Amino acid sequence: MDSSSTYPVVETFHSLQGEGYWVGVSAFFIRLAGCDVHCPFCDTKHSWNAQRHPLVTIDRLLEQARQARPQIVVITGGEPLMHNLQPLTALFHAHSLRLHLETAGAHPLTGEFDWITLSPKPFLPPLASIYEQAHELKVVIQSPKDLQWAENEAQKVRPTTHLFLQPEWSQPDSRQLVIDYILTHPRWRLSLQTHKYLGIN
Ligand code: SF4
Repeated sequence: MDSSSTYPVVETFHSLQGEGYWVGVSAFFIRLAGCDVHCPFCDTKHSWNAQRHPLVTIDRLLEQARQARPQIVVITGGEPLMHNLQPLTALFHAHSLRLHLETAGAHPLTGEFDWITLSPKPFLPPLASIYEQAHELKVVIQSPKDLQWAENEAQKVRPTTHLFLQPEWSQPDSRQLVIDYILTHPRWRLSLQTHKYLGIN
């Protein structure tokens, strides 16, 4: 195993998972740089250009994650699958860390994960191969047309995949839209960005 492999890293931090199925769990986040999805509502646009961020060895990332003693390690971005994640996941699993991935799914899956959150974006849709790998599907909702997009995406995942609708933070009207939709479509659950409500990372 080559522990000198490097990735461009925007930031690492220890916090609570704010969204989706694992909300509230102690999580160590590794935010990798680089994203070509370019969502207009992106709250991490500074992550898009990987060349603006330092390369960090997986040895160093492992050291940070182990010091945090989290329940889960979340690989996020940016779009993490723009990188080959195999060296990172092999090293972290060799040290018995539980690995979660957050991805828009537009690049081939690399590495091995204990949990995959697929957050598909219409601006660069997922590859067909990612849907059956997803443990949860988390769709950001800005307006009513996004609900149809969410239903289309939900048809592609496994029946056991957890389905979440997440109001887009900068569109307050989207909260009531999502609440009303779930009341009449109960297979969906609400995902809130609780870290933003709490004012934490
Ligand atoms: S996929 Fe994520 S990081 Fe990339 S532009 Fe969209 S919200 Fe931002």
